[in-house]
Order: sequence, then structure tokens, then C-alpha cells
Amino acid sequence: ATPTAVMVGTGVAAAHGVLIKGADALERAHKVQTVVFDKTGTLTLGRPAVLEMRCFDPQVSEHEVLELAAAVEHASEHPLAAAVMEYAERVLTGPSRPASAERSRESLDLDREDSLHWGSSAAPSMATTPRFGRRARRTDWIRMVRDAEPNPGKGIKGWVEPGPGYSRPKGLVAQQEHRQVQNGWASLMGFDSNSQQQQQRQPGIPEPREVRVVAGNKHMMADEGMSVPAEVDDYMRKMEDQCCTCVILAIGSTITAVLAISDPIKPEARGVVAALGKRGIACHMVTGDNWRVARAISSQLGIINVMAECLPAAKAARIRELQQGRKLVAMVGDGVNDAPALAAADVGIALGSGTDIALEAAEYVLMRADLEGVLLALDLSRATFNRIR
Ligand code: ADP
Ligand code: MG
Repeated sequence: ATPTAVMVGTGVAAAHGVLIKGADALERAHKVQTVVFDKTGTLTLGRPAVLEMRCFDPQVSEHEVLELAAAVEHASEHPLAAAVMEYAERVLTGPSRPASAERSRESLDLDREDSLHWGSSAAPSMATTPRFGRRARRTDWIRMVRDAEPNPGKGIKGWVEPGPGYSRPKGLVAQQEHRQVQNGWASLMGFDSNSQQQQQRQPGIPEPREVRVVAGNKHMMADEGMSVPAEVDDYMRKMEDQCCTCVILAIGSTITAVLAISDPIKPEARGVVAALGKRGIACHMVTGDNWRVARAISSQLGIINVMAECLPAAKAARIRELQQGRKLVAMVGDGVNDAPALAAADVGIALGSGTDIALEAAEYVLMRADLEGVLLALDLSRATFNRIR
């Protein structure tokens, strides 16, 4: 192709909201034989909404559970975190919030109705609005989190001071948790946590009141030494078959609640997958979400090749595997978790709504949430480079 053709191609792409970083990128796209899609925020709207929250620990109030969940999720950029924040905000600061901190079950159920409605009808129109706007909203209701630690592809954890709605579990669990806290303080103060010093309270060191809060999937819980009770697992399976992603919430060392979150499929996704198929391009899906949800969604899209429960590195490994035999592979994604795969792919296509790291790792940026941009990018490259062969 002549430099003029490349310029025209790049210009037409830009006019359609597809930014291309350089002529090389435009050229490679016409040889792509495989397109790998991320699920969350790429094939789905990425505006997930909490359908319902189920509490499994009668010791903790639902209000308190939500406050603790919001405290840790506030530190996360994940779309699921935004869903939890929005739900918590609505339930905790909604107009009908009673003066007392404790809310009745009925009022929580009312909110549930509300979120169901929001999830099914209002969500698509929200697709183009930016994610949970922290600055534009009131944030004074959000409790402080200390040492928040996101674990990409798994969840997030941190330390939060519980409110009156939380009673510390008695016995061994409390002891373990207390020791964990003390160890934390001891190492912070430069003591060896295995030495005898941890047995005695250090004068001048306040008793930490914080509790460990973990939000994430089963792998996250396993990493934290918690296994999911059968009752919780049954509930999760039921919701996952309905395309809901479940976020498990653990407080201290107890699995306390599950938030069932639904993220609708983008309206054009099925058509784009079909159109790629017509061009002889194989479509794959990789996701950090679990297999049940992944299968439920891929079957609706007509995507047969699926890999679920992928950590970021596994997504990249999948790309390299598909590149065997010199096939050019494109990756379409939006998240931090997609950045390694976007970088590994021959053609990285990031959604403009995505995380900065993803935008940096990719050579194509789709300024519109619309997946039609993927088709346009590949077609333009073909039009530009097939012409002179
Ligand atoms: P995807 O590939 O679908 O975009 P991710 O790799 O971003 O998914 O995340 C995979 C899984 O990790 C999520 O489905 C969720 O179970 C868990 N997860 C990640 N971040 C969070 C978070 N902030 N809160 C709760 N769960 C999370
Ligand atoms: Mg994603």
C-alpha cells in the first residue's frame, strides 16, 4: 500500500472512532485469522449490576455486610467493583434510608426489585456513560480500607474497621484473626512475629479493631484459606446458570455473603461474531470468570472456543498458543487483566472505555464501546493492503 492509502485507511478508521497506532498495526490486521475476545466489558456491556445479595451469616447485619463490601471494592477498578459500589450506594444512602443504621428485610427487598429493573432496562443505555464516577458522587458513606490489595482475576482484599452491625466471632476463629492482626502489627513495628514478643501486648500500640475483608471468586477464597460451604455453592451454581457472576464476600475468616451480578451481553456482539465467522475468522473467548458463566454466555453468542478462569498470564499464554503455525491473532479486551494478552497478540484491540494499561498495550483503540469497530478495523486493513497484492 502506498503511504497515501495508509493515511486514508487510518483517517477513515479515526472517523469511525477506531484509533490506529501506526501503519504496521494497520497492515498486520488484514492477516488476522483468529480473534480472541475478553468477556467482561468486551462482549458484555461492562455495566454489571447487582441482582441480589444473599447473606449466609445471621451474626452480621446485611447493612454491615454491604458497608464492608463497599469499603474494599472502592479500592478496585474492576467493573464488578463498580456494580457493588452502585448497589451499596443505593441501599445504604437511598432516599428511603431510615435514620437507624439497621434496615428491615422488607426495605432491602424493595431495593432488590429496584436493581432487577435497573439491570434489565436501564443498563444498556448506561453503556456509554463512564464507569462509577467517584468524584461526581458522594463518597462520605464509604468506610476507609487499609492496605487494599487487588488480585487480578481473583478479587480484592483489605482491612476495614467493622461497625456495630458486626460481632466478632467467638473462640478459635477470633483468636486466629487476632493473631493475624497482631502479627501484622508486630512486623510493622519490626518485631519477629514468631518470637515471644507477639504473646505480650506492646505498650502504646493500640488494639487493632480492623477485620479482614475479602471479595472475589472461589480462587480468591482458596488463596485466603477458605473453602466455600455447600449451601453457598448451591446458591452460586443456581445464579451462574442464569449468567450471573457471583462475588463472594468473606469477613474475618468466614464466608458471609454472595452478591449475584449480571452483566448483559452487548446487543451487537452476536452479529459481530457471526460476521467474523463469515470472513473465515475463528472467534475465541477468554475470561477470568468461571466456567458456568462463561459457557452460559458463549453459547448465547455462538462462540465455541472458550477458556474460563484464566488469570492474566493464562490469557496471554492462550494467545501464544493460538499463534502457533504462524497464524496472526487479534485480541480484543478492556481490562488490566487483558494487558498481557493485548501485548502478546499480533493485533491488540482495546476498548476506549477500558483501563489505561490496556489502552497502552494495544495498537488499536475503539473509542466507541461498540464491537463493530473490530470488524471495521479488519475490513479497512484488508481494503488497504489487499488492493496492491
Ligand atoms: P474477565 O476476564 O471476565 O474480564 P477478570 O479477569 O477481570 O474477568 O476477573 C475474573 C474474576 O475475578 C471475576 O469474574 C471475579 O470473580 C474476580 N474478581 C476480579 N476482580 C474482582 C473484584 N474487584 N471484586 C470481586 N471479584 C473480582
Ligand atoms: Mg474485561
